[in-house]
Amino acid sequence: MNEDYEAGDIAPLIITPTGLYFSCEIVEITCPACGELFKGTKRDAGGFIAGHQAYHEFTNAQDMLITSLGGV
Ligand SMILES: [Zn+2]
Repeated sequence: MNEDYEAGDIAPLIITPTGLYFSCEIVEITCPACGELFKGTKRDAGGFIAGHQAYHEFTNAQDMLITSLGGV
């Protein structure tokens, strides 16, 4: 992605390996669990959110399993 874009900008065209994106609003979001920041298209923000959700659910489930087994 072009690094000159700011949140709220509309990118007329973004070319990715999987397709062309027209009139894309650039968004900026922060993961509430770990504070990581993402800036990019909504399409990629969805991947960022889904990825973090899956990761944090996995690590939380792991912690609960370890606790239930009497571990630290
Ligand atoms: Zn996160």
